[in-house]
Amino acid sequence: MANLELRSLGNTGLKLSSVGFGASPLGNVFGPVSEDDAFASVRDAFRLGINFFDTSPYALSLCVFFDVLTIWVFYFVFWVDRIQSQEIVFLEYFFDLFTIWVFDFVFWVVAFSRYYGGTVSEKVLGKALKAMGVPRNEYIVSTKCGRYVDGFDFSAERVTRSIDESLDRLQLDYVDILQCHDIEFGSLDQIVNETIPALQKLKEAGKIRFIGITGLPLGVFTYVLDRVPPGTVDVILSYCHYSINDSTLEDLLPYLKSKGVGVISASPLSMGLLTERGPPEWHPASPELKAACQAAAAYCKENGKNISKLAMQYSLSNKDISSVLVGMNSVKQVEENVAAAKELAMFGKDEKALSEIEEILNPVMNQTWPSGIQQS
Ligand code: NAD
Repeated sequence: MANLELRSLGNTGLKLSSVGFGASPLGNVFGPVSEDDAFASVRDAFRLGINFFDTSPYALSLCVFFDVLTIWVFYFVFWVDRIQSQEIVFLEYFFDLFTIWVFDFVFWVVAFSRYYGGTVSEKVLGKALKAMGVPRNEYIVSTKCGRYVDGFDFSAERVTRSIDESLDRLQLDYVDILQCHDIEFGSLDQIVNETIPALQKLKEAGKIRFIGITGLPLGVFTYVLDRVPPGTVDVILSYCHYSINDSTLEDLLPYLKSKGVGVISASPLSMGLLTERGPPEWHPASPELKAACQAAAAYCKENGKNISKLAMQYSLSNKDISSVLVGMNSVKQVEENVAAAKELAMFGKDEKALSEIEEILNPVMNQTWPSGIQQS
């Protein structure tokens, strides 16, 4: 079978594998992943031709999930107890709430230490890459700055400190791409006037090779790219906007091409919506969108198809996208996704199955969810 395709990333000169390795699952975002499984997935990905690995210092969803769960379990238990005994006294209620928060705090401390304060993805990816023992110039690593467990901070001081912390966790001397993470949560003018100039200094210092920006609303990309000198931002990473249920990124591709900006499209499985297993608890999609995607997955299964494979092939089929970044946490997933890409190269898309799924998803097509703060 042919090798995994390499595609040029804008004007960077980098050639990324069409399938990129999203390392957020290694940070336990979609459920616990053992270090052995993480190492094996990274090793297998590289062996099969994946040369692009993306991570970030922020990956805490499992903690947030436990946190919310803890609150609700205790809240429920205490309320049932009070309602049964029909004695809801204000002071007792206050005491209940206080107890809930004590338990919640303890749970947070345990979860926080268990998951290294959200930085586990960088640490595990760094160890796995090092364990492979291959020359550094044979793989491409991107990480992010500005989004942390304790919130967003796109100040020059914080992002400058952030790269040193990331390099330390990744055990690397430089990263290929440093991206401002989910910029819709910060001031876009600060990104233009302060964050990106700080990243340029990091480029001059040799700590990063290229600069990127990531976010959910597509408008943030044009806002920034229209305001920075040409060639300043090398890459954009968009997510959940080039998959079977939402392909709105497509309209932006000619603009990005005209600017020479490389395009990474993440979350081809819409962060788990387009899988047989379904999305994680924290997924922000509406119940309507979740139900439609699960109906599409069930339809595929009944007809001997795999929704994740079709979704991968859908995203990979647009060659203006340099790399389709999919989150993987097992050798099986790595092998399936690489096989999907190779099969696409040989036989093309399964147009019939895709149009049947698109019909099921039609009522929720291009539906997204809010992300970020109101920009002034
Ligand atoms: P995704 O759409 O890639 O889905 C990942 C989920 O699908 C995981 O649960 C994974 O285990 C599962 N999966 C993968 N291959 C599968 C297969 N063949 N069959 C069944 N299930 C499969 O979503 P994602 O992981 O959120 O996105 C991919 C990567 O993109 C992330 O890891 C991260 O690196 C990047 N990303 C960045 C941002 C950002 O910068 N704001 C946002 C989202 C994603």
